[in-house]
Amino acid sequence: MRLVVHEMALSASLLRVIEDSAAREGFRAVRTVWLEIGALAAVEPEALRFGFEVLSRGTVADGATLRIVDVGASAWCEACARTVTVSARFDACPLCGTDALRPTGGREIRVRELEVT
Ligand SMILES: [Zn+2]
Repeated sequence: MRLVVHEMALSASLLRVIEDSAAREGFRAVRTVWLEIGALAAVEPEALRFGFEVLSRGTVADGATLRIVDVGASAWCEACARTVTVSARFDACPLCGTDALRPTGGREIRVRELEVT
């Protein structure tokens, strides 16, 4: 099995965000976590699910379902002189087909929503 240090660290920070929300908003359990992940964040969903499952035991997120929402990535196209959305790092521009795009976003990882009880 490959090392999942990156995803373990991510799971730990994700759980901190969830526990902070629980303390602030007073919910006791989380059923579903919707997590937005940019296409350039270099996260392996399966490793993240595994890390989350292991680390959430005994927390408010114990047994919660992790739903990963792929939000793509943004890049600047010189030829079109505009920002376009791509799904992977080396994608060509969806408008003009040039492959000299400069990535401008897509590394973000963000909790979109928590379904709580
Ligand atoms: Zn273009």
